Amino acid sequence: MTNETHDAALRSWVESANAAGCDFPVQNLPLAVFRRHGSGEPWRGGVAIGDQVLDLAAARGTGVFEGAASDAATLAGNPTLNGLMALGPRHWSALRLALSRLLRAGAPQAGALARCLVPQAEAEYTVPAQIGDYTDFYTSVHHATNIGRLFRPDNPLMPNFKWVPIGYHGRVSSIGVSGQRFHRPHGQVLSPGAAAPAFAACARLDYELELGIWVGPGNASGRPIPIAEAGQHVFGLCLLNDWSARDIQAWEYQPLGPFLSKNFATTVSPWIVTMEALEPYRLAWTRPAGDPQPLAYLDSAEDRAHGAIDVQLEAWLESEAMRAAAAGPCRLSHTSFRHAYWSIAQMVAHHAVGGCNLNPGDLLGSGTQSGPTAAEGGALIELTAGGRQPAALANGETRRFLEDGDTVILRGWCEKPGYVRIGFGECRGTVLPALD
Ligand code: CA
Repeated sequence: MTNETHDAALRSWVESANAAGCDFPVQNLPLAVFRRHGSGEPWRGGVAIGDQVLDLAAARGTGVFEGAASDAATLAGNPTLNGLMALGPRHWSALRLALSRLLRAGAPQAGALARCLVPQAEAEYTVPAQIGDYTDFYTSVHHATNIGRLFRPDNPLMPNFKWVPIGYHGRVSSIGVSGQRFHRPHGQVLSPGAAAPAFAACARLDYELELGIWVGPGNASGRPIPIAEAGQHVFGLCLLNDWSARDIQAWEYQPLGPFLSKNFATTVSPWIVTMEALEPYRLAWTRPAGDPQPLAYLDSAEDRAHGAIDVQLEAWLESEAMRAAAAGPCRLSHTSFRHAYWSIAQMVAHHAVGGCNLNPGDLLGSGTQSGPTAAEGGALIELTAGGRQPAALANGETRRFLEDGDTVILRGWCEKPGYVRIGFGECRGTVLPALD
C-alpha cells in the first residue's frame, strides 16, 4: 500500500524538512488553508514542508503540475479545500506524487518553487473546508467505560456501545482553527443534592483529545457507502478538541445526548494529514474474542487487516502562570488512536447506512481517545476521576478542570521503524473568562 512517496531515504531541498523530529518531512505533505498573518490576502491552500508552507495557488501558476495533479492543485489553491476533497483518491494521489517529486532534494523546479514558500511563522490559518455537517463519534471503549462509571456507576457501558458506532450530530458554526479563544459557557447545572438546577458559568470545563476525519467525495441521498468503499470517501485526518462543559453535560445529556455542553466551541488543527500519508502506520483492526463481532455491514477483510491506525496523541496544558514564567506547557496524557474500538471505515459505513448523504468537507470526530491505562485518559474528567483527584502540573499547580487562561495543546504523530516520523502540528485553544 506504500509507494515511492513514503520512501524513508527521501530528503527535501527545504532543509528544515530533513531535521529529526520535524512534523513535516517530505513524506508527510499535509494540506491547510492559509495566508500571510494580518495581510488580508486571499485564503488559499498550502502544503507544509519543514518550517515552510508551499503556496499551492502560487505553485500552480509556475506551471509545474501536469494532468490530474494540475487539476488537483488548481482546486487546492482555492479558499476552501472542498473542491479538492470532492475529487477523490486518484487526484489526491497524483497531487501527492507530484509534490513529493517537486520538493525532493535535486528537483530541477526547486528554484521556481522556492519563491512560492511562506514561512509558517508568518502564516495564519483558517478552518480548511466549508463544513456542512459535523458528527462526533464515541469510539474509545476505555473512554466510554471511564466516563460511564462517573455518570452512571451502576451501568458504565451502555449495551449498544459494542454493537453500534455511537455518535451525535455536533455544531458547525462554533468550529474554529487552532488558536481559537472562547469564553467559558453558561448553562443549567444541577448541583449534588440540589432540588432544582441553577443557571451558572460552567465550573467543570474540560477538553477532549480526538482526531477529526475529513470527508472526501460524498454519497447520494439514499445510497449507503459499503464498508469496502469507505476509504475512498475519506480525505484525511486532523487533531480535534471537543471542548466539554461537564456540569452542563451531566444534567442535559439523557436521553438525547450532548447539546449546550458541547456546542460553544470545537477546535481543529489547520493541517490535514492525508490518508495516503498515513498508510505505513496502519495496523490490523481486532475485536476481543467474547465481544460482539461487527454486523456484516460493519465488517470487511480489508478493515480487519488494516483498519486501525497508530496515531500517537498527546494533550498538553499551558496555564497563565506557566506563560508568565515562560515555563512551557506540561503534558497531561499520551495515548494512541490504535486503541479505538471502531475504525474510520466503520464510522463512515455506519453513518451512511440508513441513506444519510455525506458531503465533501463534512467533519467526523473520532470521539475522545483514551487508552487502556488511567494515565492514557483523553480528558481531565478521566485523569482526575471526575474532579476528585486533582492532576499535578509540572510547576506545582493542580487542575480538577480547566481554569480561565488555560491553553490546551493537542499533538499527534506517527512513527514506525523503516519510515520517517510524520506529525500533525498543533491544535491549540484558550479558555477566556465567562462573559458577565
Ligand atoms: Ca467528543
